Amino acid sequence: MHFTYFMPAKILFGRDCVAENASLLRPFGKKALVVTGKSSAKNGALSDVLSALEANGQKACVFDKVVANPTLACVQAGAEEARRTGADFVVGIGGGSALDAAKAVAALAYEPRADKDVFSGGWTGALPVAAVPTTAGTGSEVTQYAVLTDDFRRTKTSISSPAFFPGIAFLDGKYTAGLDKKITADTAADALSHAVEGMFTVKSTPVSDLAALESIRILFRIFPKIEAGSLADGDREELLYASMLAGTVIAQSGTTAVHAMGYPLTYYKGTPHGEANGVLLGEMLALCEERLPERTERILRAAGTKDVAAFKGALSRLLRGHARYEKSDLERWAEEASENPKLAGVTYRPDKEDILRMYLGSDILAEGANPER
Ligand code: NAP
Ligand code: ZN
Repeated sequence: MHFTYFMPAKILFGRDCVAENASLLRPFGKKALVVTGKSSAKNGALSDVLSALEANGQKACVFDKVVANPTLACVQAGAEEARRTGADFVVGIGGGSALDAAKAVAALAYEPRADKDVFSGGWTGALPVAAVPTTAGTGSEVTQYAVLTDDFRRTKTSISSPAFFPGIAFLDGKYTAGLDKKITADTAADALSHAVEGMFTVKSTPVSDLAALESIRILFRIFPKIEAGSLADGDREELLYASMLAGTVIAQSGTTAVHAMGYPLTYYKGTPHGEANGVLLGEMLALCEERLPERTERILRAAGTKDVAAFKGALSRLLRGHARYEKSDLERWAEEASENPKLAGVTYRPDKEDILRMYLGSDILAEGANPER
């Protein structure tokens, strides 16, 4: 065995974990910028964080202008707000968009850069970040990535640095209780993508494989309850746990072909991130089955599905009503996705033809565009 495993985020998991562990935020600094979207004011997360900061005697300003798939304009405005208010740390609250925006704001407040230089790498520092997820899917609370809309390359691109790992992640399932069925399903599919993709890279480790398989096991157990709209609080908590586990996986391995293929669906058509990955994941597993059958078998066993077709079927039930695309678009996106650096280190080595095959084999062609439908 030969591997490197790095997970510096302190994880606090459980009901009321923000209030119970407020004092852990004290060493982060004197003045926080809370970076969030609109929903945290309704699900209790924002008031819990503000009360915790107040109890510690820390000042706080709120930047609640995060948009989905955060843009450079959004994170530059947040960084400007951090500088204007003299914030010395950042608390991100929300889905992956808000948590990623918080990391990018922390980076740009620490090291201001022009838009054209944001994606050129070499990030070495950031203000300290704490993270409070309110969706269960991205695992961003335990990763070193901030995924931003990249209008230069017309896709989504991650910036990353070990400095972007949240120092603390507070995971309380109660904040996710009000998520609607669609967001719950999409985000769960994202977590599944992370777990599965993370098992097919040269950077996967025995530790991350364990987390991936446990995440897959939990997600497949809960999928039918998401479909039925019958999630109990305990199920919500398990989804959050599975998402965090899958986040620790991609913190080692990064995401790969499915994310590279999913980004154009989001960039050009606005498809939610999790749905974009979930509709493509089954075909990726089909390709993996041909090339790496043993790993694929471990995944199918964890999922409790007898074969790849059953695995795909579970995802298409979960994502019923998903978006569809023109064949000409998929052909163009296959070209774009095949140039994505995420394909380096993928152990089943997809080329452009494989990517097009995965797009066309996924049930995502527009009505009438697929002669077999
Ligand atoms: P999201 O874009 O953060 O949120 C989706 C929607 O859900 C937004 O409208 C959001 O509103 C709302 N929302 C969030 N929490 C809610 C709650 N508790 N109740 C009701 N509504 C709620 O979606 P996401 O799937 O969590 O994140 C996707 C982003 O994460 C993408 O940009 C993706 O590329 C990125 N990502 C990052 C990583 C990483 O490692 N950094 C990994 C995977 C994906 P408000 O925002 O207004 O609150
Ligand atoms: Zn993802």
